[in-house]
Amino acid sequence: MSKSTVTLPSGKEMPLVGFGLWKVPKETAAYTVYNAIKSGYRLFDGAYDYQNEKEAGEGIRRAIADGLVTREEIFITTKLWNNYHRRGHVLEMARRQNESWGLGYIDLFLMHFPCALKYIDPAIRQYPAWWMDDAGTVQTDKVPIRETWEAMEEVVDNGIARSIGVSNFQAQSIYDILTYARHPLSSLQIEHHPYLVQSELVKVAQENRIAVTAYSSFGPQSFVELPAQFSAKAKDIQLLFDTECVRVIAKKYNVTPAQVLLRWATQRNVAVIPKSNNQARLAENLDILGFDMTSEEIGSISALDKGLRFNDPGYYLPNHQIRIFA
Ligand code: NAD
Repeated sequence: MSKSTVTLPSGKEMPLVGFGLWKVPKETAAYTVYNAIKSGYRLFDGAYDYQNEKEAGEGIRRAIADGLVTREEIFITTKLWNNYHRRGHVLEMARRQNESWGLGYIDLFLMHFPCALKYIDPAIRQYPAWWMDDAGTVQTDKVPIRETWEAMEEVVDNGIARSIGVSNFQAQSIYDILTYARHPLSSLQIEHHPYLVQSELVKVAQENRIAVTAYSSFGPQSFVELPAQFSAKAKDIQLLFDTECVRVIAKKYNVTPAQVLLRWATQRNVAVIPKSNNQARLAENLDILGFDMTSEEIGSISALDKGLRFNDPGYYLPNHQIRIFA
């Protein structure tokens, strides 16, 4: 069995396989997280944007109280939402989110996107995610990445987070942060699946010892269930589970297509955080480190690349395109 953690530049160990909390309903999140811990999960990937941090934290606290795990064995990742990029807001949000989890500290705090939106008081916030009002207005703000990054470093100085990193960033801004970072850029979380390989971006990160985490490892699967503006690109594309090469490789190793997709990443030291509300799949997604594919097989999966990105505010915010991936 290969190594099940990756060492972050901060010196902390991060599990290679975790559980993603996006779209896990608030009502069932505590129960789902508790069961995931029972199944062996130790890393939970949350965000202010997912609106279930408090409930996820409850599930973890219950598992600790029942003696299933200790706090030190658990790794929580959470993310700073775009409305809170200003220096003072970063610390305020980190404190607020840390309180929601109720676990003493955050293991990894990520800047969710490399773009700032206008501040919304979280106490009176009405609309989720990118939107400001009923009309679906999106308003950007002029906050430099450097200001946000330096405030995140203060989150570490204050003992609220142990490691910090970024998500949805491209090479240029990563190189830029590396020129002034006082605390290491520990992790980069990106959309990464065989339809969007981004091999050069993964190289940039790994050459700089930044641990890469893949999200949406199953590609279109996560997006077909969303409203039209998010699912349009995913609707007419073959599911990765059904592609010939993934199916053939799965058969050879007597694993499922989902396990092949997750192993394709972890075998290259890219962490994964699949999400499932189903107990059998949850167990299946964790059990992926026990086989190794050949480099030809890994290459044949990577050859499915189409540069097809599903999570793109330059696309799904048609009236306010924010083209961060241009
Ligand atoms: P995912 O690739 O984990 O796919 C989830 C979908 O796959 C669900 O429909 C689920 O039912 C299905 N599924 C799960 N296990 C399966 C299995 N074994 N067989 C068949 N189907 C299976 O997608 P995701 O939720 O988009 O990404 C995972 C996590 O990544 C999220 O929960 C979140 O934590 C994180 N994420 C981060 C960002 C970001 O901007 N940083 C964006 C998207 C997701």
